[in-house]
Amino acid sequence: MSLTIVRLYHDLLGTYGDQGNAEILMHRAKARNLDVQLVEVTPGMAVPRSGDIYLLGGGEDGPQSAALEMLKQDGGLQYAAAGGATVLAICAGFQIIGESLPDSSGNAVAGLGLVDAHTIYDASPRSVGELVIQPSRGGLPMLTGFENHQGLTRLGEDMPPLGLVQSGVGNGFSKQEGVWHGNIFGTYMHGPALARNPELADAVLQCAAGPMRPFNDPLADAFAKERRQTLTGN
Ligand code: GLN
Repeated sequence: MSLTIVRLYHDLLGTYGDQGNAEILMHRAKARNLDVQLVEVTPGMAVPRSGDIYLLGGGEDGPQSAALEMLKQDGGLQYAAAGGATVLAICAGFQIIGESLPDSSGNAVAGLGLVDAHTIYDASPRSVGELVIQPSRGGLPMLTGFENHQGLTRLGEDMPPLGLVQSGVGNGFSKQEGVWHGNIFGTYMHGPALARNPELADAVLQCAAGPMRPFNDPLADAFAKERRQTLTGN
């Protein structure tokens, strides 16, 4: 089976190293003998409509607004998501795939509407630090990441979060963190999130490629365990 991973605008949305999520997915896909290719989409390029996994990362407000406008005009990501493509969107990317978010001047603008989520900026201090969440499905263990955001994101009632916050801020409402709706994942976890959480990487891969055999990568597992133990004592 072949798998196409589309990394969107990492020159705009790569401030926090989230572009590394593509490398982790490729590494873990190849370990399952999947034929995997990475398509790098830079500003001005058309977004392919037939990708299997689309990746968006985090960034500053200005580049985030620019990325949102380009994605709105292009329409390729929305088309692919409507057809069931898998999406992993981090921080600014998570805000972009929601219904509304502040633009670089702080005015609310429409997002891509892939998930029912509304991001606001309020007077609270910026959320910066380690984040630990407990997912409620997918057999996922405690996940860890690093958050750094001003925006707070309220999910619609029918939107399942990715997990519940054990420590840190996350979405900032009802202890929720991120979203996992169908094949669409959003989270505030940088790290990159998939380097710190190999199980999450496999959940994303399996949405696109179906069930796959376990893959034990001792270095990745030791790293994930170290972060979990240091942050939770478990
Ligand atoms: N600009 C957004 C915020 O501060 C996203 C930040 C990020 O991607 N880390 O909420």
